[in-house]
Amino acid sequence: MQSPVQNTVVVLGTGGTISGSAASPDDNLGYVAGTVGVDALVASANGPAGVAVESEQIAQLDSKDMDFATWRRLAERVAHHAARPEVAGIVITHGTDTLEETAWFLARVVAAAKPVVLTGAMRPATSREADGPGNLADAIAVASQAGRAGVVVVFAGQVHSAHDVRKVHPSRLDAFASGDAGPLGRLEGGRLASARPWPREAALGLGVLPAEGAAWPWVEIVSSAAGVDGRAVAALVDAGVDGLVVAATGNGSVHRDLAAALARAARRRPVAILRATRCLDGAVAEKGEPEAFASAGDLVPVKARVELVLRLLQARAPAAKAD
Ligand code: ASP
Repeated sequence: MQSPVQNTVVVLGTGGTISGSAASPDDNLGYVAGTVGVDALVASANGPAGVAVESEQIAQLDSKDMDFATWRRLAERVAHHAARPEVAGIVITHGTDTLEETAWFLARVVAAAKPVVLTGAMRPATSREADGPGNLADAIAVASQAGRAGVVVVFAGQVHSAHDVRKVHPSRLDAFASGDAGPLGRLEGGRLASARPWPREAALGLGVLPAEGAAWPWVEIVSSAAGVDGRAVAALVDAGVDGLVVAATGNGSVHRDLAAALARAARRRPVAILRATRCLDGAVAEKGEPEAFASAGDLVPVKARVELVLRLLQARAPAAKAD
């Protein structure tokens, strides 16, 4: 039997500014995110010829309010569509505020052998100069590329890896960057003009996620900074926190009072701790001697938090298999 032509791209809508609306087409700031349906977004985007585009509304959220239940549903639908033989790739429209967290979550959970492309916008769909239609058309073009696999972000003409991408500006149209690594590629006139190989993350599989309705591990971020003490850590440990990410200074250094509080916490009961750097770029470089708290490498603190949630889930479900 002949294998079907992979010419379908599925666009999954989750909300965000890309689906936001304002009272006036001149208003780029006073809008409500997550109001325009994904069908209308797809209709407004001039995607590449020869690609059949399907859409499905997963959520309609301002991504500042992203939650674990939506992540679970999104991961399930991505895995479902990626397994369809006629599907070339998947696009996810998403708010920009937590887009990098969702990208890392999906990269570490879904083992898709096809492109999974997140995109969004900095101006609402109703704007006279909306950037969403162009970003969505670019994302569909990238998702329809044969021979690529993994989770990437397409935004303002650039392709970023889930690992390196971060939101770097609250209002500029090119609000995303990849730090020291730089973007994976760029688009020109709706076509992928250059691209490095896409990194593939080791995916844990959907089996690692908790049963529907069950609690996810509670992980918080605490910052090392001038004048901090251990009170926040003590309060979190008393309240039952499962894991802490320390947004550490420079090369992973932690204020001595905060370090003492973390050590006390770890002696009282098991609390998983990961150290990430507050620096905008670069990784925590190991000094060759054992450190009190494990390093998150070059993951920014918000992605280190996602990572720690997943590692705690994996520890709960050691037999989970990649899907
Ligand atoms: N608050 C919006 C969101 O993350 C911002 C955006 O999409 O640009 O949903």
